[in-house]
Amino acid sequence: MHIKKQRLLTPGPTPLLPSALHAMMGSDIHHRTDDFRNLYKRVLADLKEILGTSSDVLVLVSSGSGAMEAAAQNFFSPGDEVLVCSAGKFGERWVEITKAFGLHPTVLTAPYGEAVHPESVEQALRQNKNLRGVFVQASETSTGAQHDVKAMGKAIQRTEAIFVVDAITGIGTMPLDVDGWGLDIVVGGSQKAFMIPPGLAFLSISPKAWAMADSAKSPRYYFDLKREKKNAVNGESAWTPNTALLLAFAEALKFIRSIGMPKLVENAQLLARATREAVTELGLQLFSNSPGSSVTAVRPPSGMDSGVIVKEFRTRFNAIITNGQGSMKGQIFRLAHLGYFDFHDLFAIIAELELILAAQGYPVQFGTGVAAAQNVYAEAALPKEAVALT
Ligand SMILES: *Cc1c(COP(=O)(O)O)cnc(C)c1O
Repeated sequence: MHIKKQRLLTPGPTPLLPSALHAMMGSDIHHRTDDFRNLYKRVLADLKEILGTSSDVLVLVSSGSGAMEAAAQNFFSPGDEVLVCSAGKFGERWVEITKAFGLHPTVLTAPYGEAVHPESVEQALRQNKNLRGVFVQASETSTGAQHDVKAMGKAIQRTEAIFVVDAITGIGTMPLDVDGWGLDIVVGGSQKAFMIPPGLAFLSISPKAWAMADSAKSPRYYFDLKREKKNAVNGESAWTPNTALLLAFAEALKFIRSIGMPKLVENAQLLARATREAVTELGLQLFSNSPGSSVTAVRPPSGMDSGVIVKEFRTRFNAIITNGQGSMKGQIFRLAHLGYFDFHDLFAIIAELELILAAQGYPVQFGTGVAAAQNVYAEAALPKEAVALT
């Protein structure tokens, strides 16, 4: 018998920040009091600072998809032509949401694992001057691929269209210059790099997007962003908010401010690089040719179902990792790096992966993958003389 601590290692929900978790117990406050107004104002101000934008930032009580829906709903009218970049399950969700609100999406599809090229976006915008919006994932969590939203933003900025970016796993894992790159609407969620449980979503909204909201005719009620904005100015939400999660959010934002957003991004990037080197060293293949730093999708050895690896992580080590979604199920397993992940987690994950592969009969020299990850750590964090010794 071995003790097995349960560890949540998925790309959402992610491991929880202890101080945020503890803060949730103070939720016996009322949302129409100054206690709450001060909390809400602080959350909105800190979030705006962390996102590095001068645009409005609003918080909604929903999972990330709620803010995606609000974005498709509040700035467009039925019949509007839009462009959707779809490179995975979340890109497909943009297609479904835009259609649900009567928009007419033209879809630029990249095969799973690949990214939509910014030049295709530029070309589509040139070909159709009626496009009112462009929808994309900064990081496509289902495949581990990331999009070049900077280059896309540059092309979109010159047009009438607004750029709607699902950055739910992009925030905190890649640099995002919201204002400078023309990211009109940036959508985020609580259970990803923000280290708290699911249930809050948020968006930043540029002046260009607000101008479109004035003429937008899609029906709305709960996710009425103008109404939320009016309330937010006074430190209130339109409806009863999730006070427990907002208390947690405030702590998480305090933590991110204390280390600095660029450091959070660097942390994910370094862990992602170490992961890529470790699995490659073990003879495994990456799924994406445009890998981001929120999650690394890895192909199992040929002939092995990735579900076996996912299951073995759970039964042997009580560690929860994720399989592929949809048609990628069985084809990939995904190792996350966003938010509250550290090298301690990674060294263990790679050591466990080696043991699991060996138990399945795949030839592994123990320590090969771990050493690759250690070398990335050593290079980044050990004194130079020590690195020379390894
Ligand atoms: C997690 C995630 C979402 C939102 O999913 P919810 O389950 O609604 O929180 C959307 N897009 C991406 C890229 C995600 O990773």
